[in-house]
Amino acid sequence: MKKQGRGYLECRRCGNKNGLIRRYGIILCRQCFREVAKSIGFKKYS
Ligand SMILES: [Zn+2]
Repeated sequence: MKKQGRGYLECRRCGNKNGLIRRYGIILCRQCFREVAKSIGFKKYS
């Protein structure tokens, strides 16, 4: 199944589709977001 385009979201880092967070123009799952957030100096998120 190839469903690419609008509405198709997945983590840009690991491809996970669960718990996605869209911030700062990036799409990441919560796990990756945490790691990335660290690297950009973003400690806490809600
Ligand atoms: Zn991820």
